[in-house]
Amino acid sequence: VASKLNSSGLLRTQGLIGGKWSDAYDGKTIKVYNPATGESIADVACMGGRETNDAISAAYTAYRSWSKTTAAERSKFLRKWYDLLMAHKEELAQLITLEQGKTLKESIGEINYGAGFIEFSAEEAKRIYGDIIPAPLSDRRLFVLKQVVRSYIVEEDQPTDLKGDTEVIWAKVFNFWSQIQRFIPEDMNVIQEVTMLGPHLWTQPVGVVGAITPWNFPLAMITRKVGPALACGCTVVIKPSELTPLTALAAAELSIQAGIPAGVVNVVMGNAPEIGDSLLASPQVRKITFTGSTAVGKKLMAGSAETVKKVSLELGGNAPCIVFDDADLDVAVKGTLAAKFRNSGQTCVCANRIIVQDGIYEKFANALRDAVLNMKVGDGFSEDVAQGPLINEAAVQKVESLIHDATSKGAKVILGGKRHSLGFTFYEPTVISDVNIDMRISREEVFGPVAPLLRFKTEEDAIRIANDTNAGLGSYVFTNSIQRSWRVAEALEYGLVGVNEGVISTEVAPFGGFKQSGLGREGSKYGMDEYLEIKYVCMGNM
Ligand code: ADP
Repeated sequence: VASKLNSSGLLRTQGLIGGKWSDAYDGKTIKVYNPATGESIADVACMGGRETNDAISAAYTAYRSWSKTTAAERSKFLRKWYDLLMAHKEELAQLITLEQGKTLKESIGEINYGAGFIEFSAEEAKRIYGDIIPAPLSDRRLFVLKQVVRSYIVEEDQPTDLKGDTEVIWAKVFNFWSQIQRFIPEDMNVIQEVTMLGPHLWTQPVGVVGAITPWNFPLAMITRKVGPALACGCTVVIKPSELTPLTALAAAELSIQAGIPAGVVNVVMGNAPEIGDSLLASPQVRKITFTGSTAVGKKLMAGSAETVKKVSLELGGNAPCIVFDDADLDVAVKGTLAAKFRNSGQTCVCANRIIVQDGIYEKFANALRDAVLNMKVGDGFSEDVAQGPLINEAAVQKVESLIHDATSKGAKVILGGKRHSLGFTFYEPTVISDVNIDMRISREEVFGPVAPLLRFKTEEDAIRIANDTNAGLGSYVFTNSIQRSWRVAEALEYGLVGVNEGVISTEVAPFGGFKQSGLGREGSKYGMDEYLEIKYVCMGNM
Protein backbone atom coordinates (compact mmCIF):
# COMPACT_ATOMS: atom_id res chain seq x y z
CA VAL A 1 0.00 0.00 0.00
CA ALA A 2 2.76 2.40 1.02
CA SER A 3 4.63 2.01 -2.27
CA LYS A 4 1.44 2.61 -4.26
CA LEU A 5 0.85 5.75 -2.25
CA ASN A 6 4.42 6.80 -2.78
CA SER A 7 4.01 6.69 -6.54
CA SER A 8 0.88 8.86 -6.28
CA GLY A 9 2.95 11.57 -4.57
CA LEU A 10 0.65 11.52 -1.57
CA LEU A 11 3.02 9.87 0.89
CA ARG A 12 4.62 12.93 2.44
CA THR A 13 6.81 12.80 5.51
CA GLN A 14 8.00 16.40 5.86
CA GLY A 15 6.16 19.34 7.33
CA LEU A 16 4.72 22.05 5.07
CA ILE A 17 5.86 25.60 5.78
CA GLY A 18 5.07 28.44 3.42
CA GLY A 19 4.46 26.09 0.51
CA LYS A 20 7.75 24.19 0.98
CA TRP A 21 8.13 20.67 2.29
CA SER A 22 10.57 20.83 5.15
CA ASP A 23 12.46 18.47 7.45
CA ALA A 24 12.70 19.22 11.14
CA TYR A 25 15.51 21.79 11.51
CA ASP A 26 17.50 19.40 13.68
CA GLY A 27 16.73 16.48 11.35
CA LYS A 28 14.74 14.57 13.96
CA THR A 29 11.99 12.19 12.90
CA ILE A 30 9.25 10.16 14.57
CA LYS A 31 7.84 6.85 13.46
CA VAL A 32 4.28 6.26 12.36
CA TYR A 33 2.93 2.75 12.99
CA ASN A 34 0.21 0.57 11.56
CA PRO A 35 -1.80 -0.41 14.66
CA ALA A 36 -3.05 -3.60 12.99
CA THR A 37 0.43 -5.04 12.48
CA GLY A 38 2.69 -3.01 14.73
CA GLU A 39 4.86 -2.28 11.68
CA SER A 40 6.45 1.09 11.14
CA ILE A 41 5.04 2.80 8.03
CA ALA A 42 7.09 5.98 7.80
CA ASP A 43 9.45 8.35 9.60
CA VAL A 44 8.02 11.85 9.63
CA ALA A 45 9.66 15.15 10.56
CA CYS A 46 9.59 15.76 14.31
CA MET A 47 9.20 19.52 14.55
CA GLY A 48 9.03 21.96 17.43
CA GLY A 49 8.84 25.63 18.29
CA ARG A 50 11.19 27.02 15.63
CA GLU A 51 9.40 25.36 12.73
CA THR A 52 6.07 26.40 14.19
CA ASN A 53 7.14 30.02 14.42
CA ASP A 54 8.17 29.92 10.77
CA ALA A 55 4.87 28.33 9.83
CA ILE A 56 3.05 31.10 11.70
CA SER A 57 5.09 33.75 9.84
CA ALA A 58 4.29 32.07 6.52
CA ALA A 59 0.59 31.94 7.41
CA TYR A 60 0.65 35.58 8.46
CA THR A 61 2.28 36.67 5.21
CA ALA A 62 -0.16 34.59 3.17
CA TYR A 63 -3.04 36.06 5.15
CA ARG A 64 -2.32 39.48 3.68
CA SER A 65 -3.29 38.34 0.22
CA TRP A 66 -5.60 35.40 0.97
CA SER A 67 -7.87 37.51 3.16
CA LYS A 68 -8.23 39.97 0.31
CA THR A 69 -9.40 37.45 -2.27
CA THR A 70 -13.07 37.45 -3.05
CA ALA A 71 -15.37 34.80 -1.65
CA ALA A 72 -15.89 33.58 -5.20
CA GLU A 73 -12.15 33.08 -5.65
CA ARG A 74 -11.75 31.22 -2.37
CA SER A 75 -14.77 29.13 -3.24
CA LYS A 76 -13.13 27.99 -6.48
CA PHE A 77 -9.91 26.98 -4.70
CA LEU A 78 -11.85 25.00 -2.12
CA ARG A 79 -13.97 23.33 -4.79
CA LYS A 80 -10.80 22.25 -6.61
CA TRP A 81 -9.39 20.86 -3.38
CA TYR A 82 -12.63 18.96 -2.76
CA ASP A 83 -12.51 17.50 -6.28
CA LEU A 84 -8.94 16.32 -5.73
CA LEU A 85 -9.76 14.75 -2.35
CA MET A 86 -12.59 12.85 -4.00
CA ALA A 87 -10.47 11.88 -7.00
CA HIS A 88 -7.93 10.35 -4.57
CA LYS A 89 -10.54 8.78 -2.33
CA GLU A 90 -9.08 5.27 -2.58
CA GLU A 91 -5.50 6.25 -1.74
CA LEU A 92 -6.54 8.53 1.10
CA ALA A 93 -8.79 5.86 2.57
CA GLN A 94 -5.94 3.36 2.42
CA LEU A 95 -3.72 5.83 4.21
CA ILE A 96 -6.28 6.24 6.99
CA THR A 97 -6.67 2.48 7.44
CA LEU A 98 -2.90 2.11 7.39
CA GLU A 99 -2.10 4.62 10.12
CA GLN A 100 -5.33 4.65 12.11
CA GLY A 101 -6.67 1.11 11.79
CA LYS A 102 -10.34 1.67 10.98
CA THR A 103 -11.86 -0.55 8.30
CA LEU A 104 -11.42 0.47 4.68
CA LYS A 105 -15.19 0.95 4.40
CA GLU A 106 -15.13 3.35 7.33
CA SER A 107 -12.12 5.13 5.85
CA ILE A 108 -13.99 5.65 2.59
CA GLY A 109 -16.86 7.00 4.69
CA GLU A 110 -14.46 9.39 6.39
CA ILE A 111 -13.19 10.72 3.05
CA ASN A 112 -16.75 11.41 1.90
CA TYR A 113 -17.58 13.05 5.23
CA GLY A 114 -14.26 14.90 5.54
CA ALA A 115 -14.18 16.16 1.96
CA GLY A 116 -17.79 17.22 2.46
CA PHE A 117 -16.61 19.99 4.80
CA ILE A 118 -14.43 21.38 2.02
CA GLU A 119 -17.28 21.23 -0.48
CA PHE A 120 -19.73 22.80 1.97
CA SER A 121 -17.21 25.54 2.82
CA ALA A 122 -16.71 26.24 -0.89
CA GLU A 123 -20.43 26.81 -1.19
CA GLU A 124 -20.91 28.65 2.09
CA ALA A 125 -18.03 31.04 1.40
CA LYS A 126 -20.40 32.85 -0.93
CA ARG A 127 -23.16 33.13 1.65
CA ILE A 128 -21.51 35.00 4.48
CA TYR A 129 -24.11 37.75 4.60
CA GLY A 130 -24.30 40.77 6.84
CA ASP A 131 -27.41 42.50 8.19
CA ILE A 132 -29.13 45.85 8.12
CA ILE A 133 -30.74 46.57 11.48
CA PRO A 134 -33.75 48.91 11.86
CA ALA A 135 -32.30 51.90 13.69
CA PRO A 136 -33.73 53.23 16.96
CA LEU A 137 -33.14 56.81 15.76
CA SER A 138 -34.36 58.09 12.41
CA ASP A 139 -31.10 59.78 11.44
CA ARG A 140 -29.04 56.62 11.75
CA ARG A 141 -28.40 53.54 9.66
CA LEU A 142 -27.08 50.39 11.31
CA PHE A 143 -25.08 47.75 9.44
CA VAL A 144 -23.56 44.45 10.47
CA LEU A 145 -20.63 43.40 8.33
CA LYS A 146 -19.18 39.90 8.53
CA GLN A 147 -17.11 39.73 5.42
CA VAL A 148 -15.61 42.62 3.57
CA VAL A 149 -13.88 42.46 0.21
CA ARG A 150 -10.98 44.91 -0.11
CA SER A 151 -10.67 45.16 -3.84
CA TYR A 152 -11.45 48.50 -5.36
CA ILE A 153 -12.85 50.15 -2.26
CA VAL A 154 -9.45 50.31 -0.68
CA GLU A 155 -7.12 50.35 -3.61
CA GLU A 156 -9.06 51.98 -6.40
CA ASP A 157 -11.48 54.83 -6.62
CA GLN A 158 -14.14 53.28 -8.75
CA PRO A 159 -15.36 49.75 -9.36
CA THR A 160 -14.38 49.62 -12.98
CA ASP A 161 -13.51 45.96 -13.45
CA LEU A 162 -16.43 44.18 -11.89
CA LYS A 163 -16.25 40.44 -12.31
CA GLY A 164 -18.53 38.32 -10.17
CA ASP A 165 -21.62 38.67 -8.06
CA THR A 166 -19.75 39.69 -4.96
CA GLU A 167 -18.18 42.60 -6.77
CA VAL A 168 -21.53 43.72 -8.08
CA ILE A 169 -23.01 43.72 -4.60
CA TRP A 170 -20.05 45.62 -3.23
CA ALA A 171 -20.21 48.07 -6.07
CA LYS A 172 -23.74 48.79 -4.99
CA VAL A 173 -22.64 49.28 -1.41
CA PHE A 174 -19.84 51.49 -2.61
CA ASN A 175 -22.19 53.56 -4.71
CA PHE A 176 -24.62 53.78 -1.83
CA TRP A 177 -21.86 55.05 0.43
CA SER A 178 -20.66 57.43 -2.26
CA GLN A 179 -24.16 58.83 -2.52
CA ILE A 180 -24.71 59.31 1.17
CA GLN A 181 -21.26 60.68 1.95
CA ARG A 182 -22.41 63.99 0.54
CA PHE A 183 -24.70 64.22 3.55
CA ILE A 184 -22.09 63.27 6.09
CA PRO A 185 -19.93 65.98 7.65
CA GLU A 186 -16.32 65.88 6.47
CA ASP A 187 -14.92 64.63 9.77
CA MET A 188 -17.29 61.69 9.79
CA ASN A 189 -16.75 60.62 6.24
CA VAL A 190 -16.54 56.86 6.33
CA ILE A 191 -15.37 56.48 2.76
CA GLN A 192 -12.50 58.86 3.33
CA GLU A 193 -11.42 56.93 6.38
CA VAL A 194 -11.56 53.68 4.49
CA THR A 195 -9.61 55.11 1.60
CA MET A 196 -7.00 56.42 3.98
CA LEU A 197 -6.38 52.86 5.15
CA GLY A 198 -4.70 52.34 1.79
CA PRO A 199 -3.28 48.88 1.17
CA HIS A 200 -3.68 47.67 4.77
CA LEU A 201 -5.81 44.69 5.66
CA TRP A 202 -9.45 45.50 5.61
CA THR A 203 -11.20 42.24 6.16
CA GLN A 204 -12.90 40.40 8.94
CA PRO A 205 -11.71 36.84 9.01
CA VAL A 206 -10.18 36.35 12.45
CA GLY A 207 -6.65 35.93 11.05
CA VAL A 208 -4.10 33.14 11.36
CA VAL A 209 -5.63 30.00 12.86
CA GLY A 210 -3.85 27.25 14.80
CA ALA A 211 -5.69 23.95 14.23
CA ILE A 212 -4.77 21.04 16.51
CA THR A 213 -6.37 17.71 15.69
CA PRO A 214 -6.57 14.14 17.02
CA TRP A 215 -5.97 10.72 15.47
CA ASN A 216 -9.48 9.26 15.40
CA PHE A 217 -10.54 11.04 12.19
CA PRO A 218 -7.21 11.90 10.55
CA LEU A 219 -8.88 13.76 7.65
CA ALA A 220 -12.28 14.95 8.83
CA MET A 221 -11.09 16.68 12.00
CA ILE A 222 -8.79 18.76 9.81
CA THR A 223 -11.19 19.57 7.00
CA ARG A 224 -13.95 20.70 9.29
CA LYS A 225 -11.61 23.32 10.68
CA VAL A 226 -9.61 24.25 7.61
CA GLY A 227 -12.61 24.35 5.22
CA PRO A 228 -14.47 27.15 7.02
CA ALA A 229 -11.24 28.91 8.00
CA LEU A 230 -10.14 29.19 4.38
CA ALA A 231 -13.63 30.03 3.19
CA CYS A 232 -13.70 33.01 5.54
CA GLY A 233 -10.25 34.23 4.46
CA CYS A 234 -8.14 32.85 7.32
CA THR A 235 -4.86 31.00 6.86
CA VAL A 236 -3.92 27.99 8.99
CA VAL A 237 -1.14 26.19 10.80
CA ILE A 238 -2.29 22.61 11.25
CA LYS A 239 -0.85 20.32 13.90
CA PRO A 240 -2.17 16.83 13.24
CA SER A 241 -1.78 14.02 15.74
CA GLU A 242 1.68 12.46 15.63
CA LEU A 243 -0.08 9.07 15.48
CA THR A 244 -1.76 9.90 12.15
CA PRO A 245 0.14 12.67 10.34
CA LEU A 246 0.26 10.98 6.93
CA THR A 247 -3.38 11.65 6.00
CA ALA A 248 -2.98 15.30 7.00
CA LEU A 249 0.15 15.64 4.87
CA ALA A 250 -1.54 13.97 1.88
CA ALA A 251 -4.48 16.38 2.20
CA ALA A 252 -2.04 19.29 2.37
CA GLU A 253 -0.30 18.03 -0.78
CA LEU A 254 -3.68 18.04 -2.54
CA SER A 255 -4.29 21.60 -1.33
CA ILE A 256 -1.11 22.59 -3.17
CA GLN A 257 -2.23 20.71 -6.27
CA ALA A 258 -5.52 22.63 -6.02
CA GLY A 259 -3.54 25.83 -6.40
CA ILE A 260 -4.21 27.15 -2.90
CA PRO A 261 -1.40 29.69 -2.50
CA ALA A 262 1.75 28.93 -0.50
CA GLY A 263 1.42 29.68 3.20
CA VAL A 264 -2.37 29.44 3.31
CA VAL A 265 -2.13 25.83 4.55
CA ASN A 266 0.86 24.89 6.72
CA VAL A 267 1.45 21.64 8.61
CA VAL A 268 3.83 21.03 11.50
CA MET A 269 3.99 17.98 13.79
CA GLY A 270 6.34 16.47 16.33
CA ASN A 271 6.69 17.87 19.82
CA ALA A 272 3.04 18.64 20.63
CA PRO A 273 3.52 20.76 23.78
CA GLU A 274 6.25 22.82 22.10
CA ILE A 275 4.19 23.39 18.96
CA GLY A 276 1.16 24.21 21.11
CA ASP A 277 3.14 26.71 23.18
CA SER A 278 4.42 28.49 20.06
CA LEU A 279 0.90 28.78 18.67
CA LEU A 280 -0.38 30.10 21.99
CA ALA A 281 2.45 32.59 22.49
CA SER A 282 2.16 34.17 19.05
CA PRO A 283 0.09 37.36 18.88
CA GLN A 284 -0.24 36.70 15.15
CA VAL A 285 -2.29 33.57 15.80
CA ARG A 286 -5.78 34.93 16.43
CA LYS A 287 -7.61 31.67 16.91
CA ILE A 288 -7.05 28.19 18.26
CA THR A 289 -9.37 25.44 17.09
CA PHE A 290 -8.90 22.09 18.77
CA THR A 291 -10.39 18.62 18.85
CA GLY A 292 -9.05 16.25 21.47
CA SER A 293 -9.00 15.51 25.15
CA THR A 294 -10.67 17.77 27.69
CA ALA A 295 -7.40 18.08 29.62
CA VAL A 296 -5.43 19.44 26.65
CA GLY A 297 -8.38 21.61 25.60
CA LYS A 298 -8.39 23.30 29.01
CA LYS A 299 -4.66 23.98 28.72
CA LEU A 300 -5.11 25.54 25.29
CA MET A 301 -7.99 27.68 26.53
CA ALA A 302 -5.93 28.91 29.48
CA GLY A 303 -2.94 29.54 27.20
CA SER A 304 -5.08 31.55 24.80
CA ALA A 305 -5.96 34.05 27.51
CA GLU A 306 -2.65 35.90 27.32
CA THR A 307 -3.30 37.11 23.77
CA VAL A 308 -7.11 36.79 23.99
CA LYS A 309 -7.42 34.40 21.09
CA LYS A 310 -10.76 33.20 19.87
CA VAL A 311 -11.10 29.54 20.89
CA SER A 312 -13.13 26.62 19.53
CA LEU A 313 -12.92 23.38 21.46
CA GLU A 314 -14.37 20.00 20.67
CA LEU A 315 -13.55 17.87 23.69
CA GLY A 316 -14.53 14.60 25.31
CA GLY A 317 -18.06 13.27 25.52
CA ASN A 318 -19.95 10.80 27.69
CA ALA A 319 -22.82 10.06 25.34
CA PRO A 320 -25.97 8.53 26.78
CA CYS A 321 -27.97 6.22 24.56
CA ILE A 322 -31.44 5.92 26.08
CA VAL A 323 -33.62 3.01 25.01
CA PHE A 324 -37.26 3.26 26.15
CA ASP A 325 -39.69 0.37 26.51
CA ASP A 326 -41.64 1.77 23.57
CA ALA A 327 -38.65 1.73 21.21
CA ASP A 328 -38.57 -0.37 18.04
CA LEU A 329 -36.13 -3.09 19.14
CA ASP A 330 -34.49 -3.52 15.73
CA VAL A 331 -34.04 0.22 15.24
CA ALA A 332 -32.64 0.58 18.77
CA VAL A 333 -30.16 -2.27 18.37
CA LYS A 334 -29.02 -1.14 14.93
CA GLY A 335 -28.68 2.48 16.11
CA THR A 336 -26.84 1.53 19.30
CA LEU A 337 -24.49 -0.73 17.38
CA ALA A 338 -23.58 2.11 15.03
CA ALA A 339 -23.36 4.73 17.78
CA LYS A 340 -21.20 2.48 19.94
CA PHE A 341 -18.93 0.41 17.74
CA ARG A 342 -18.01 2.56 14.77
CA ASN A 343 -14.30 3.30 14.64
CA SER A 344 -13.93 0.61 17.35
CA GLY A 345 -15.70 2.91 19.78
CA GLN A 346 -13.12 5.64 19.26
CA THR A 347 -15.21 8.71 18.51
CA CYS A 348 -16.19 11.49 20.88
CA VAL A 349 -19.87 10.88 20.11
CA CYS A 350 -19.74 7.12 20.64
CA ALA A 351 -22.46 5.87 22.98
CA ASN A 352 -20.69 5.67 26.34
CA ARG A 353 -23.62 4.65 28.55
CA ILE A 354 -26.49 2.61 27.17
CA ILE A 355 -29.35 3.40 29.49
CA VAL A 356 -32.18 0.90 29.01
CA GLN A 357 -35.67 0.86 30.51
CA ASP A 358 -36.70 -2.03 32.75
CA GLY A 359 -39.33 -3.52 30.48
CA ILE A 360 -37.08 -3.94 27.42
CA TYR A 361 -33.76 -4.46 29.23
CA GLU A 362 -33.40 -8.26 28.88
CA LYS A 363 -34.68 -8.36 25.30
CA PHE A 364 -32.42 -5.48 24.28
CA ALA A 365 -29.34 -6.93 26.03
CA ASN A 366 -29.80 -10.28 24.25
CA ALA A 367 -30.42 -8.70 20.86
CA LEU A 368 -27.42 -6.39 21.21
CA ARG A 369 -25.20 -9.31 22.25
CA ASP A 370 -26.32 -11.32 19.21
CA ALA A 371 -25.65 -8.38 16.89
CA VAL A 372 -22.21 -7.71 18.39
CA LEU A 373 -21.37 -11.41 18.18
CA ASN A 374 -21.58 -11.13 14.39
CA MET A 375 -19.02 -8.35 14.19
CA LYS A 376 -15.81 -9.60 12.62
CA VAL A 377 -12.61 -8.17 14.09
CA GLY A 378 -9.45 -7.88 12.04
CA ASP A 379 -7.09 -5.83 9.92
CA GLY A 380 -9.08 -2.97 8.38
CA PHE A 381 -7.87 -4.02 4.93
CA SER A 382 -9.47 -7.50 5.20
CA GLU A 383 -12.84 -8.29 3.68
CA ASP A 384 -15.93 -8.28 5.88
CA VAL A 385 -14.14 -6.83 8.87
CA ALA A 386 -16.43 -4.67 11.01
CA GLN A 387 -13.91 -3.60 13.63
CA GLY A 388 -10.22 -2.80 13.43
CA PRO A 389 -7.65 -2.49 16.24
CA LEU A 390 -7.53 0.23 18.88
CA ILE A 391 -5.07 3.03 18.21
CA ASN A 392 -2.39 1.94 20.68
CA GLU A 393 -1.52 -0.06 23.77
CA ALA A 394 -2.52 2.77 26.12
CA ALA A 395 -6.04 2.70 24.65
CA VAL A 396 -6.33 -1.05 25.33
CA GLN A 397 -5.06 -0.64 28.87
CA LYS A 398 -7.63 2.05 29.56
CA VAL A 399 -10.43 -0.23 28.36
CA GLU A 400 -9.07 -3.06 30.50
CA SER A 401 -8.93 -0.92 33.60
CA LEU A 402 -12.49 0.38 33.10
CA ILE A 403 -13.82 -3.16 32.68
CA HIS A 404 -11.87 -4.34 35.71
CA ASP A 405 -13.31 -1.51 37.80
CA ALA A 406 -16.86 -2.22 36.61
CA THR A 407 -16.74 -5.99 37.16
CA SER A 408 -15.17 -5.53 40.60
CA LYS A 409 -18.23 -3.44 41.50
CA GLY A 410 -20.81 -5.93 40.22
CA ALA A 411 -21.05 -5.50 36.44
CA LYS A 412 -21.31 -8.69 34.35
CA VAL A 413 -19.50 -9.34 31.08
CA ILE A 414 -22.07 -10.85 28.71
CA LEU A 415 -19.79 -10.79 25.67
CA GLY A 416 -16.08 -10.19 25.06
CA GLY A 417 -14.33 -8.42 27.90
CA LYS A 418 -10.80 -9.31 26.85
CA ARG A 419 -8.08 -8.75 24.29
CA HIS A 420 -8.71 -10.39 20.93
CA SER A 421 -6.70 -13.46 19.97
CA LEU A 422 -5.30 -11.50 16.99
CA GLY A 423 -2.98 -9.76 19.47
CA PHE A 424 -1.54 -6.26 19.04
CA THR A 425 -4.21 -3.76 20.05
CA PHE A 426 -7.22 -5.76 18.92
CA TYR A 427 -9.97 -5.95 21.53
CA GLU A 428 -13.08 -8.09 21.52
CA PRO A 429 -16.33 -6.17 20.97
CA THR A 430 -17.80 -6.23 24.45
CA VAL A 431 -21.18 -5.92 26.14
CA ILE A 432 -21.41 -5.60 29.93
CA SER A 433 -24.62 -5.43 31.95
CA ASP A 434 -25.58 -4.32 35.48
CA VAL A 435 -23.50 -1.17 35.18
CA ASN A 436 -24.33 1.67 37.56
CA ILE A 437 -23.45 5.35 37.78
CA ASP A 438 -20.80 4.84 40.44
CA MET A 439 -18.55 2.85 38.17
CA ARG A 440 -15.72 4.66 36.36
CA ILE A 441 -17.04 3.39 33.02
CA SER A 442 -20.14 5.58 33.52
CA ARG A 443 -18.11 8.66 34.31
CA GLU A 444 -15.15 8.44 31.92
CA GLU A 445 -15.01 8.32 28.16
CA VAL A 446 -14.37 4.66 27.24
CA PHE A 447 -13.04 5.26 23.70
CA GLY A 448 -13.16 1.55 22.98
CA PRO A 449 -15.53 -1.21 21.84
CA VAL A 450 -17.39 -1.69 25.12
CA ALA A 451 -21.15 -1.28 25.50
CA PRO A 452 -22.05 -0.78 29.19
CA LEU A 453 -25.76 -1.34 29.93
CA LEU A 454 -27.44 0.62 32.75
CA ARG A 455 -31.05 0.11 33.84
CA PHE A 456 -33.71 2.75 34.54
CA LYS A 457 -37.39 2.82 35.51
CA THR A 458 -38.93 6.21 34.65
CA GLU A 459 -38.34 8.90 32.03
CA GLU A 460 -37.20 11.27 34.79
CA ASP A 461 -34.62 8.69 35.92
CA ALA A 462 -33.29 8.40 32.39
CA ILE A 463 -32.88 12.15 31.99
CA ARG A 464 -31.26 12.51 35.40
CA ILE A 465 -28.76 9.73 34.70
CA ALA A 466 -28.07 11.06 31.18
CA ASN A 467 -27.39 14.61 32.38
CA ASP A 468 -25.34 13.56 35.41
CA THR A 469 -21.97 14.33 33.80
CA ASN A 470 -19.71 17.27 32.98
CA ALA A 471 -19.79 16.29 29.32
CA GLY A 472 -22.51 17.24 26.85
CA LEU A 473 -21.66 16.31 23.27
CA GLY A 474 -23.56 13.44 21.61
CA SER A 475 -26.72 11.76 22.92
CA TYR A 476 -29.21 9.24 21.53
CA VAL A 477 -32.82 8.41 22.29
CA PHE A 478 -34.80 5.45 21.04
CA THR A 479 -38.59 5.67 21.42
CA ASN A 480 -41.66 5.45 19.21
CA SER A 481 -43.48 8.21 21.09
CA ILE A 482 -43.34 11.58 19.36
CA GLN A 483 -44.20 13.42 22.57
CA ARG A 484 -41.50 11.63 24.53
CA SER A 485 -38.85 12.14 21.85
CA TRP A 486 -39.44 15.91 22.00
CA ARG A 487 -39.59 16.03 25.79
CA VAL A 488 -36.37 14.09 26.15
CA ALA A 489 -34.52 15.81 23.30
CA GLU A 490 -35.31 19.17 24.93
CA ALA A 491 -34.30 17.98 28.42
CA LEU A 492 -30.94 16.54 27.38
CA GLU A 493 -28.03 18.89 28.11
CA TYR A 494 -26.24 17.89 24.93
CA GLY A 495 -25.17 19.63 21.75
CA LEU A 496 -26.34 16.76 19.53
CA VAL A 497 -29.36 14.51 19.94
CA GLY A 498 -30.03 11.54 17.68
CA VAL A 499 -33.65 10.39 17.89
CA ASN A 500 -34.01 6.83 16.59
CA GLU A 501 -30.68 7.29 14.81
CA GLY A 502 -27.15 6.37 15.84
CA VAL A 503 -25.02 8.23 13.29
CA ILE A 504 -25.98 11.86 12.88
CA SER A 505 -22.81 13.81 12.02
CA THR A 506 -22.88 15.69 8.73
CA GLU A 507 -21.16 18.77 7.41
CA VAL A 508 -24.50 20.55 6.96
CA ALA A 509 -25.44 20.42 10.69
CA PRO A 510 -23.73 22.07 13.68
CA PHE A 511 -21.46 19.80 15.74
CA GLY A 512 -20.34 20.80 19.23
CA GLY A 513 -20.84 20.33 22.92
CA PHE A 514 -22.51 21.75 26.01
CA LYS A 515 -20.71 22.02 29.36
CA GLN A 516 -17.12 20.77 29.38
CA SER A 517 -17.48 19.10 25.98
CA GLY A 518 -16.44 22.30 24.33
CA LEU A 519 -17.02 25.70 22.86
CA GLY A 520 -18.28 26.68 19.45
CA ARG A 521 -19.71 24.65 16.60
CA GLU A 522 -18.21 22.99 13.55
CA GLY A 523 -19.94 22.45 10.23
CA SER A 524 -23.05 24.19 8.89
CA LYS A 525 -23.55 27.94 8.61
CA TYR A 526 -22.90 28.20 12.37
CA GLY A 527 -19.38 26.85 11.92
CA MET A 528 -18.51 29.80 9.70
CA ASP A 529 -18.99 32.40 12.41
CA GLU A 530 -16.15 30.81 14.39
CA TYR A 531 -13.71 32.23 11.83
CA LEU A 532 -15.20 35.70 11.40
CA GLU A 533 -15.33 38.94 13.29
CA ILE A 534 -18.65 40.76 13.36
CA LYS A 535 -18.41 44.46 12.71
CA TYR A 536 -21.17 46.93 13.51
CA VAL A 537 -21.17 50.16 11.55
CA CYS A 538 -23.43 52.97 12.71
CA MET A 539 -23.89 55.82 10.27
CA GLY A 540 -25.23 58.81 12.14
CA ASN A 541 -26.51 62.27 11.30
CA MET A 542 -28.03 61.05 8.07
P1 ADP B 1 -6.22 12.14 22.32
O1 ADP B 1 -6.41 11.45 23.62
O2 ADP B 1 -7.40 12.13 21.43
O3 ADP B 1 -4.95 11.81 21.63
P2 ADP B 1 -5.04 14.66 22.96
O4 ADP B 1 -5.74 15.83 23.52
O5 ADP B 1 -3.92 14.08 23.74
O6 ADP B 1 -6.20 13.64 22.71
O7 ADP B 1 -4.52 14.95 21.50
C1 ADP B 1 -5.20 15.73 20.58
C2 ADP B 1 -4.19 16.60 19.86
O8 ADP B 1 -3.62 17.50 20.81
C3 ADP B 1 -3.03 15.84 19.26
O9 ADP B 1 -2.67 16.44 18.03
C4 ADP B 1 -1.95 16.02 20.29
O10 ADP B 1 -0.65 15.90 19.76
C5 ADP B 1 -2.22 17.45 20.72
N1 ADP B 1 -1.63 17.83 22.01
C6 ADP B 1 -1.39 17.07 23.09
N2 ADP B 1 -0.83 17.80 24.06
C7 ADP B 1 -0.72 19.07 23.60
C8 ADP B 1 -0.23 20.32 24.12
N3 ADP B 1 0.25 20.40 25.34
N4 ADP B 1 -0.29 21.41 23.33
C9 ADP B 1 -0.79 21.33 22.09
N5 ADP B 1 -1.27 20.21 21.55
C10 ADP B 1 -1.23 19.09 22.28
